[in-house]
Amino acid sequence: MTEQKFLPFALPEIGEEEINEVVDALRSGWVTTGPKTKQFEANFAAFIGDDVEAIAVNSATAGLHLALEAVGVSAGDEVIVPTYTFTATAEVVRYLGAHPVCVDIDPVTMNISPAAIRAAVTEKTKAIVPVHFAGLACDMEAILAIAKEFGLKVVEDAAHALPTTYQGQMVGTLGSDITVFSFYANKTMTTGEGGMVVSRHKDLIARCKVMRLHGISRDAFDRYVSKTPAWFYEVVAPGFKYNMPDIAAAVGIHQLKRLPDFQVKREQMAARYDRELAGLPLILPARPTASGDVHAWHLYPVRLTAEAGIARDDFIVKMAEAGIGTSVHFIPLHLHPVWRDGYQLSPAQFPVAQAAFEAEVTLPLYTRMTDDDQTRVIQTVKSILGHSNA
Ligand SMILES: *Cc1c(COP(=O)(O)O)cnc(C)c1O
Repeated sequence: MTEQKFLPFALPEIGEEEINEVVDALRSGWVTTGPKTKQFEANFAAFIGDDVEAIAVNSATAGLHLALEAVGVSAGDEVIVPTYTFTATAEVVRYLGAHPVCVDIDPVTMNISPAAIRAAVTEKTKAIVPVHFAGLACDMEAILAIAKEFGLKVVEDAAHALPTTYQGQMVGTLGSDITVFSFYANKTMTTGEGGMVVSRHKDLIARCKVMRLHGISRDAFDRYVSKTPAWFYEVVAPGFKYNMPDIAAAVGIHQLKRLPDFQVKREQMAARYDRELAGLPLILPARPTASGDVHAWHLYPVRLTAEAGIARDDFIVKMAEAGIGTSVHFIPLHLHPVWRDGYQLSPAQFPVAQAAFEAEVTLPLYTRMTDDDQTRVIQTVKSILGHSNA
């Protein structure tokens, strides 16, 4: 076998337009939050549609923190999260002195289980944070119904779900309180680091805006361009420092324009994996149940079945030996010391998530992969699973 270049698990796709816009920001004299951030926010809100407002932040983690603060999560409250997620989903709950309550997932979609949410509701429950795993929307109809029944807030962790639709509606317009997107380097579009907080509730957006910048009643750029004296501002709350700089927004403006093309490419690659990996001892990722709905395909997670005859960890080693990067999504929260020991969590409480974790491998899927790259991944998976026709 000829030595081949290492195929990374993920790579961002940055073009000349992004680069030129960053240079423009650098030359303009305004590098922090300013005109490019405002433009990015307006474009993003228009992209999501349905009269949402969008405010840019320096990460989705920051955005989730702002969102939970805005909906009123405070010390002692409980917030229901899936155990099958990145730690950011739960850590923001702790930032506010509240407690994340981890629940199990659905075995088909790998998304938070509505039945498990219902079983976890207590007097102290304040909010639910569904995570649209891999870019497939959660069962929001059931989740919003539970929230309504018990008077709970819903903040969507949509770090994977851009663009995703659910029953024909864009994630961001589904009727939750706030939705938060991520522009981390490996997400479906990037600003290096960044995130977007989206809501139709003007009061929640207003609170997030103030808390995004030290609790100051006017932001620096407003003061810079305003006719009233620039020096005056009032601090109305002990806020945070979560604003997005124009250097990052410059990248986002052009990534957003390309996002529909990125999604088409991801969809085609996912369809090819589905076709060519069918029949192997793998559980392939679930697809939207409503026809015509969009899956963002941030990730392509497969699960090895018992018939595969190889443990997940060994499979990953063999992929790496063939020069192919993979990952695992996720090491569930209940296995990380901070959550496991802090809340006495054990695998037996989360049988579905535990089984998913033990069998899961995420295959490379990103727009800069070529057909040949994907052929390599497919052939390698087939040969490891003993189905090579080579
Ligand atoms: C990436 C990710 C986040 C955090 O996004 P950042 O922009 O890096 O803060 C939150 N939740 C999930 C599920 C993620 O995958």
